Amino acid sequence: MVGAGPTGLFLACELALAGVDVAVVEREAVPSGQSRGGGVNQRSAEVLAMRGLLDAVTERAVPRESVGGHFAFLPVPLDARPWRTRYPDGIMIPQDRLEQILETRLRELGVRVRRSTELVGLVQDSDGVEATVSDGRVRGRYLVACDGGHSAVRKLVGADFPGQAGTMAAVSADIELASAGETVPRTVGHISTMMRPGGGYWMMLHPLDGEGGRVAGYRAVFGGPPQAALPRTAPVTADEVAAALTAVHGPDTVLARLRWGTRFSDAHRQLAQYRHGRVLFAGDAAHIHLPIGGQGLNLGLQDAMNLGWKLAGVVAGRSPEALLDTYHDERHPVAARVLATVRAQRVIAFPSPEADDVRGLREIVMDMARLPDGNEYLAGLMSGLAIRYDLGDPDPLVGARMIDLALGTQDGVTTVSALLRAGRGLLLDLDAPLAPVHEVAWGVDRIPARVVGSPVGTDVGAARVLVRPDGYVGWVGREPHERPDAALARCFAGSAQEAPALLG
Ligand SMILES: Cc1cc2nc3c(=O)[nH]c(=O)nc-3n(C[C@H](O)[C@H](O)[C@H](O)COP(=O)(O)OP(=O)(O)OC[C@H]3O[C@@H](n4cnc5c(N)ncnc54)[C@H](O)[C@@H]3O)c2cc1C
Repeated sequence: MVGAGPTGLFLACELALAGVDVAVVEREAVPSGQSRGGGVNQRSAEVLAMRGLLDAVTERAVPRESVGGHFAFLPVPLDARPWRTRYPDGIMIPQDRLEQILETRLRELGVRVRRSTELVGLVQDSDGVEATVSDGRVRGRYLVACDGGHSAVRKLVGADFPGQAGTMAAVSADIELASAGETVPRTVGHISTMMRPGGGYWMMLHPLDGEGGRVAGYRAVFGGPPQAALPRTAPVTADEVAAALTAVHGPDTVLARLRWGTRFSDAHRQLAQYRHGRVLFAGDAAHIHLPIGGQGLNLGLQDAMNLGWKLAGVVAGRSPEALLDTYHDERHPVAARVLATVRAQRVIAFPSPEADDVRGLREIVMDMARLPDGNEYLAGLMSGLAIRYDLGDPDPLVGARMIDLALGTQDGVTTVSALLRAGRGLLLDLDAPLAPVHEVAWGVDRIPARVVGSPVGTDVGAARVLVRPDGYVGWVGREPHERPDAALARCFAGSAQEAPALLG
């Protein structure tokens, strides 16, 4: 594994959980301490719950009002509740805190990140990959590049990374204020209330940390004429941030300290192929885009969730190598959709939201977002909850995420997400007598259970459900006698080849 950002850390956790011997190399000596990704969306919250990480995340989250999501900063809250999620607001947690939580979990699973270790070369052969790192060599059967938007691995394998260069420039900075004018938000409300234009700038300012109701740090994301003129590599300065604060929030808003700052653009690119032999790509190494709508970090976590169990199955010899191709087949379209959605939002939100040609478009999108169906559609798009992988089965449940139902089992009441904590697949028998759990094949446990009432509903509309380790439905049986043998082979062997009679 190359890179200990959120993608690399979470993927390493997935592999270690499945018993894979994993090495993680990271160029930096210490964690960055940079907030960058501002939080996890609804689907990532579900994913973290499936691995028992959600409590640690919510403990360190930034308190926020339950005000719904957004599309392009428009002032129409998006309601994710129709998607039957337990986390309709997502969770606001700065990326550095999430990385700490993931690195702690990884240590608990017995893996230490090898810091100050930069990958500088690699060679792959028929058995594995040999990486040259700053202090020697590391050999593994596979290498996963989680080394971010400037991926060295991408360059080393000559991977095609098509897309477009950026056309706008902006700054993201973590700051402290000596004094805050009236317009500075004191709590985290709907994102549209934290976004303001002023003096030729736009700025999103929101509380980041603090104790006892006192805000200590803010995150300021802004752009204006100076940012458009500065090169991408120019360091972000306190004077630059102070000028933007004054322009947008007036002279009463005074900067005390710039913790860190970075420049970003709306460049967007995506790897043509996520797999190059024994080298796979995940997270920003595979796709970059404007960080609007909080998608990048979430895409990376969910890439990791999709790849982890597949790679673990192949390394353990349970699944054929062909299963790895389904990682590209499933995740490439998801990121392509996010890139398209981000570009659509960029047109509406930047750089001049009041331009006449955009105003009409904003009004139309807002009108549509006020309609229940339009709101649900956009909420599904932005939350990651609408993702449905094409698993070759027209049943609308197959390929969609499994609802986190409460279940009564022989061992008591539990939830789907709690049953997934071990990272194994589930065959839920919802119409059979309660009985002990047993493995059917490929690390899938058969669990006889009854759906019990919970905030996400009382039914799934099937008698039997195959849930993959990443929480997506691999197959449903409408009748108790239907058998998942072929679907098991398709999910875990990567093709619907004739399956052995697995279930007896
Ligand atoms: C200003 C800004 C704001 C953002 N806001 C949001 C947001 O609100 N919501 C959201 O979801 N996303 C946001 N993002 C995007 C998010 O930060 C990224 O999508 C996320 O960091 C991707 O995680 P990653 O693990 O794939 O890559 P990274 O976090 O970039 O991690 C890559 C790691 O690899 C290491 N590395 C690189 N090269 C090597 C090498 N050769 N050898 C060893 N190690 C190496 C790096 O040091 C780094 O630790 C934002 C990004 C920026 C820049």
